[in-house]
Amino acid sequence: MAPNISRRNFIKKSTAAGVGAALMGPGSATESMAQTGGEGGSLPVVISSANGLEAVKKAMELLKAGSDPLDAVIAGVNIVEDDPNDMSVGYGGLPNEDGEVELDASCMHGPTHRAGAVGALKCIKNPSKVARLVMERSNRIFLVGEGALRFALAHGFKKENLLTDKAREIWLQWKDNLSTHDDWEPPKDKEGNPITHGTINCNAVDTHGSVAGVTTTSGLPFKVAGRVGDSALIGAGLYLDNEVGAAGSTGHGEANIKVAGAHTVVEFMRQGIQPEEACLRALQRIVDVQKRTAKWYGDLQNVNFYAVNKKGQYAAAAIFSESRYSVATAEGARRLDSAYLLKKPAAPKK
Ligand code: ASP
Repeated sequence: MAPNISRRNFIKKSTAAGVGAALMGPGSATESMAQTGGEGGSLPVVISSANGLEAVKKAMELLKAGSDPLDAVIAGVNIVEDDPNDMSVGYGGLPNEDGEVELDASCMHGPTHRAGAVGALKCIKNPSKVARLVMERSNRIFLVGEGALRFALAHGFKKENLLTDKAREIWLQWKDNLSTHDDWEPPKDKEGNPITHGTINCNAVDTHGSVAGVTTTSGLPFKVAGRVGDSALIGAGLYLDNEVGAAGSTGHGEANIKVAGAHTVVEFMRQGIQPEEACLRALQRIVDVQKRTAKWYGDLQNVNFYAVNKKGQYAAAAIFSESRYSVATAEGARRLDSAYLLKKPAAPKK
């Protein structure tokens, strides 16, 4: 079934085709679209994926106390990394296809334009802290696998088992159901657990207009060992420029990597485009790239962007409707609906 194109998307397409101006009078959709820059405009501000409500609260508390914005967002996402009930990030994250938890993270510090990242890191529950250490204690940006682990251990991190019983059970169930032609049998009377996936991206602007951001994840569940997604990649899962603002992503990493999504959002904002429209334009690029391949829509999985500019205007947008995000401003912390390009398709009838 063809997806419903949202009003916003229809307007954008019509306008791009040159018919919009003729159809729209004063107070038209074109005009209102130009004004929909997202929310906010006061500092400080912290924005994150929906799972980061506690993270944005913590980061805001620290910003108000005068913390550096990178200290603030890392302390925020550490709450989610440490939470075994968030099965998409840090401790308790769903494992790769071999049953091992492999974590990816990246961070950027606006005032110094430095970056750090780790990929496929095992046994360390706070990859965001290791990413920061790569940024601060090496003259490199990105360490992966065994080397990243050795670097963390050298700096005093302790190895831990990150696979909780709950995550192991879900992995086992996935493995049991992979094929009827192997030695793995599903348990006789178990309900299927939904496979959760996610990530946290968290970006902040402090009272001086300095920005910082971090993205941390256990990646796509049951991924092939060694797979690194967008979250660890500066320019894809995270990008910022202290002159402009910050952006990051959650969702299908491969789709995002192909358009260097977070960098694309920041570059749109550099041109003066408001955060919401910048996110939507980057998402449209992902959709356009997917359309070039056969069965593009069937293959299209959701991607979310979260963006904030230096002035404190913020927004989040996703390819599909029904995504949310978290934000903290002077008015407090809350979850809001993200903008979107396409109506989420109805779940297939059983
Ligand atoms: N973006 C993450 C990845 O591709 C996963 C997610 O956000 O769900 O690794």
